[in-house]
Amino acid sequence: MYIPYGKQTIDEADIQAVVDVLKSDYLTTGPKVAEFEKKVADYVGARYAVAVANGTAALHIACLAAGIAEGDEVITTPLTFAASSNCVLYCGGTPVFADIDSATYNIAPAEIEKKITERTKAIIPVHYTGQPCEMEAVTALAKKHNLIVIEDAAHALGAEYKGKKIGSLSDMTCFSFHPVKPVTTGEGGMVVTNDEDLYKKLVLYRSHGITRDTEWMSKNEGPWYYEQIALGYNYRITDISCALGTSQMDKLDGFLARRRAIAERYNQAFAGMKSLQLPTQADNVVSGWHLYMIQILDKDRGEAFAKLREAGIGVNVHYIPVYKHPYYQQHGYADCHCPNAEAFYERAISLPIFPGLTDKEQDYVIEQIKKLIME
Ligand SMILES: *Cc1c(COP(=O)(O)O)cnc(C)c1O
Repeated sequence: MYIPYGKQTIDEADIQAVVDVLKSDYLTTGPKVAEFEKKVADYVGARYAVAVANGTAALHIACLAAGIAEGDEVITTPLTFAASSNCVLYCGGTPVFADIDSATYNIAPAEIEKKITERTKAIIPVHYTGQPCEMEAVTALAKKHNLIVIEDAAHALGAEYKGKKIGSLSDMTCFSFHPVKPVTTGEGGMVVTNDEDLYKKLVLYRSHGITRDTEWMSKNEGPWYYEQIALGYNYRITDISCALGTSQMDKLDGFLARRRAIAERYNQAFAGMKSLQLPTQADNVVSGWHLYMIQILDKDRGEAFAKLREAGIGVNVHYIPVYKHPYYQQHGYADCHCPNAEAFYERAISLPIFPGLTDKEQDYVIEQIKKLIME
């Protein structure tokens, strides 16, 4: 037996949706892309959506649309997947890491404020584990200092902040549809926005920087004519993927309910265990529960991790603080320190949480954790 920390849930309707596309006229850049974009945009309450090849591409085109370039600083959290700051590097900008709040593990607004300089251009808050960041404080800082906010919501599709879905709160919000994420397209990502100008730029960067918009072209030589007016990429997503995504969206609320129930069951099972720090939730948010993180307080994390893996439990550690990676160490971050993120990283273990996890499997995980703690 091996229980992974995260896994996709695919049903017959998903399979049929993919098969239908394979029998249709368009495998890519067809009707399924727009259908999926509309479904996600409507769900989160955003006006525009641009689906792309993966979540990292979503972050990259969001940074390009925000105009991030050499000399610009962008503030983000170190407790994330490297893509959250790599997207800034792709544009020639400089990521600046602001430490986390030790209660929610999300980027702390007070730490963001300390890092703002006249070079700061944007903030990339990450809704770590699916729990929304303090968006009111983040957007207030952005307004005060004239910064763009790009949310990395790879964990947080369906999560809510003060009664509003993540995706409706800032300039741009990026989602990932990797198999472990809230819904999947295999590989896939999306940027949502309420700003028409940003939307047009996102579309441009998704496909080579090519436009057919006469307002943007220098001239028009005929109906075949188009112009490349920026250096974009091929970040398009296929209709095959989008058909799967649209079918998955029908099940998102059910997936989220199941994730919440699993988190609640862990909370109850581990309540009162002094050697574990359980995740806490702010009162004005509904988490997407992408991850369930525990901290091992009075045992060696490495040993605990090894024992759980031996027991067939696919525990993980999310995340190594990004600036600790050799690439960052060698590129100007050797003196970077975020003590709260580092302390969390030393003790953290991610437990299995995904819609298909059975009660029996979860009971086994709980039993193994309890055994470990008693030893
Ligand atoms: C998964 C993830 C990404 C990148 O998404 P991909 O679709 O894998 O490119 C970015 N940020 C965070 C926080 C993620 O978890």
